[in-house]
Amino acid sequence: MAVSGLPPYDDGNIFARILRGEIPCNKVHEDQWALAFHDINPQAPVHVLVIPKGRYCSFADFSANAGAEEIAGFTRAVGKVAKDLGLEEQGYRVLTNVGEHSGQEVPHFHVHLFAGRPLGRMLGRPA
Ligand code: AMP
Repeated sequence: MAVSGLPPYDDGNIFARILRGEIPCNKVHEDQWALAFHDINPQAPVHVLVIPKGRYCSFADFSANAGAEEIAGFTRAVGKVAKDLGLEEQGYRVLTNVGEHSGQEVPHFHVHLFAGRPLGRMLGRPA
């Protein structure tokens, strides 16, 4: 079910629980700013999620309220994950959903990294 991308932050959301180690994930990268892991329901041959360590509901919250160092650290982590997974040569897509019309389901900011085949149109048709 789609959620709002706006605060308040829900500490019970599934990515918060992954960050606290309460639920396992298939980790591909972790540093001071970010955790990256494989999506449990992949939509492409490579489908990785990158999430910040901080408590942000969405890109809207993160872009407005995270510190400059945090934004830089997180953005660099996204690029590093793509590079380290070897996605740069053939290309990849970075996507983030914000709020109900986007279909955001987890209210902790995350970016999707898709790759591994031609990814087609940027937007699907409305359901
Ligand atoms: P979004 O619709 O942008 O909020 O994307 C949420 C994504 O989280 C979906 O692609 C789900 O498949 C993925 N997801 C949900 N729970 C888990 C989990 N426990 N581990 C990995 N990915 C998950």
